[in-house]
Amino acid sequence: MADCIFCKLSTGELPTNKVYEDDKVFAFLDKHPINPGHILVIPKSHVAGFYNLENEDYTSLMLAVKKLAARVNEKLHPKKVGLIIAGWDVPHTHIHIVPMLDYHDITSKSLLDGKRANPADEELLEIATILTD
Ligand code: ZN
Repeated sequence: MADCIFCKLSTGELPTNKVYEDDKVFAFLDKHPINPGHILVIPKSHVAGFYNLENEDYTSLMLAVKKLAARVNEKLHPKKVGLIIAGWDVPHTHIHIVPMLDYHDITSKSLLDGKRANPADEELLEIATILTD
């Protein structure tokens, strides 16, 4: 897509710190890392919402994520390697691989603010029913 910054990074139109590339996937360092080694992994196809990817593209993306997460773990030795898929900023599917040094490195504002929901069992059951085929 012409105006998408992630498409421009994956085609080389804009410079970035590439850490991985294959025919379907591109990965580069986040310019604003939570911790050093924070990677963004994207499909080369411009799709907003990972759940909208073609199965083959999704599989390629997740296999690359697994490979890169193992690489981060092996080479940077964080306490944990976390994943975030949020997509608030750029409407091109991207998965954050975050080397975690602390439990709160990828926790939510709601958690940090102590504002997590505390639904009743019935509410949980209702949502589970909605989400179950
Ligand atoms: Zn794009």
